[in-house]
Amino acid sequence: MPVESDVEAADDGEAAGDGATEPGGEGLPINELFHSLQGEGKLAGVPSVFVRTSGCNLRCWFCDSYHTSWEPTHAWMGIDEIVDEVASHGADHVVLTGGEPLMHEESVDLLERLDDAGYHTTVETNGTIHRDAPVDLASVSPKLASSTPTAERDPKGDGEWAERHEEGRLDLDALAGLVEDYEFQLKFVVTGPDDLPEIEDLVERVREAASVPVRDEDVLLMPEGQTREDLDDTRRTVAELAAERGYRYTPRLHVDLWNDAPGT
Ligand code: SF4
Repeated sequence: MPVESDVEAADDGEAAGDGATEPGGEGLPINELFHSLQGEGKLAGVPSVFVRTSGCNLRCWFCDSYHTSWEPTHAWMGIDEIVDEVASHGADHVVLTGGEPLMHEESVDLLERLDDAGYHTTVETNGTIHRDAPVDLASVSPKLASSTPTAERDPKGDGEWAERHEEGRLDLDALAGLVEDYEFQLKFVVTGPDDLPEIEDLVERVREAASVPVRDEDVLLMPEGQTREDLDDTRRTVAELAAERGYRYTPRLHVDLWNDAPGT
């Protein structure tokens, strides 16, 4: 089973309604810190420590880390404290995730410290922010039109975030910078076959914008679903789409293994 640390997240209430976290804390707003298996992508199955920051500049309706975006909760942790907590779990791989971890300048400090200590670092990002930091794998998950929290799909209100989300969900310059500067994977959450034309179009736009190759095997299709039951509906369809198109399929191991348990 995943091992959670004793990091306690406090409700940040409306203070983070604009996607940021409240000022005044030192270090990083940490929603959770735990040890588990990487569940997605090229490193699926690798034991890793997950450092989940709170706060996101987007609001996908299906967000599987709701308490970092729609209703952010966190405890502030200093960089030393985070590094010590990571070390206590004894893994070689660290996944910095969110929320959107690159919202926070202090994420660069943390990545530098982790790099100095010899960890392999993965950063899970929505691809709208580029920062210069030692990152071993940029796991970039651009958000498709189907992510927008329209009034019908809004988990919290009546679509108040839809316009802002739609305006902010793609930044080709940031995407190209991430692809050029780091080893990367482009990971798409797929709700069904209707998403494929948009994915193909976006991959082509990234190829045109970036000065490095984006291979089909760098493009990962991941089924949308936060529970095993959800994945039962989407997993096979998405796997078949990946096989047909020559992209890579990625499972959601943590959902398959632990369903929707927190800290996985
Ligand atoms: S970008 Fe990621 S963390 Fe932010 S709302 Fe979307 S799924 Fe959630």
